[in-house]
Amino acid sequence: MKFILMVLSIMGLFFTNPIQGKIQDQDKLLVIILMGPPGCGKGTQSVELSKELNLPHISTGDLFRENMQKQTELGKLAKTFIDKGNLVPDQVVVDMLFDHIKKQGYTKGYILDGFPRTVSQAETLDKRLGNDVIKIAINLSIADDLLIERITGRLMCKDCGTPFNKTFSPPAKANICDKCQGALYQRDDDTKEVMVKRLSVYHNQTAPVIDFYKNEKVYYDVDAKKSKKEVFDSIVKTIDEVLSKPKA
Ligand code: ADP
Ligand code: ZN
Repeated sequence: MKFILMVLSIMGLFFTNPIQGKIQDQDKLLVIILMGPPGCGKGTQSVELSKELNLPHISTGDLFRENMQKQTELGKLAKTFIDKGNLVPDQVVVDMLFDHIKKQGYTKGYILDGFPRTVSQAETLDKRLGNDVIKIAINLSIADDLLIERITGRLMCKDCGTPFNKTFSPPAKANICDKCQGALYQRDDDTKEVMVKRLSVYHNQTAPVIDFYKNEKVYYDVDAKKSKKEVFDSIVKTIDEVLSKPKA
């Protein structure tokens, strides 16, 4: 019996990466919050991070886009805000998100992408999560002028939501998703006019969430100007360091 356990644990070393092992060893829920302005690379990084950590990735933007594609009541309502570059009202987002989490029944943890986007959403999240949780808020910081370029060239997969960029990360075949062969499209809110509005909404409503998490001492900053790989490595390193800290 001991021998089998030993063999299994040695095999485990080869099959799970070390950070996944650290996550498995936690008895608390792990909630990673990826923050940053529109176009900072949250979506791209979340998809990769989800694989690296073996944790689900939840994007409130993707949930809205699914609803808009299916033309649900929620989707139709959300579209009236999103197409103007405004935030969807807190209560609508919060209900949609927690409904999704409840249905999926995530027990180990998850990566939040695009939530919370207001201080009130951050407070609601705290209430729902309680104290028995490890929260890590990572902000991908980058200057506004770089964002407009990134966003107006953005293409998204209709089926799996993976973002591409005409200039910075083009798909191998034009207009076809590398991952799932789905068709790529340009989002209605990815025009220059709407982007300017989204940036001002970001600075007014979302940037204050940074101070909120700084106060809670769960805040980490990553430079999002760097290459995709460098940004990714910094994110993973940050998470690894937090998980490696001795438990209080
Ligand atoms: P971005 O590329 O700007 O990060 P997302 O795909 O995350 O955009 O979201 C697209 C739009 O969906 C936002 O501009 C906003 O209108 C709406 N939205 C997404 N998440 C939230 C949220 N947490 N609160 C309010 N509105 C949201
Ligand atoms: Zn795809």
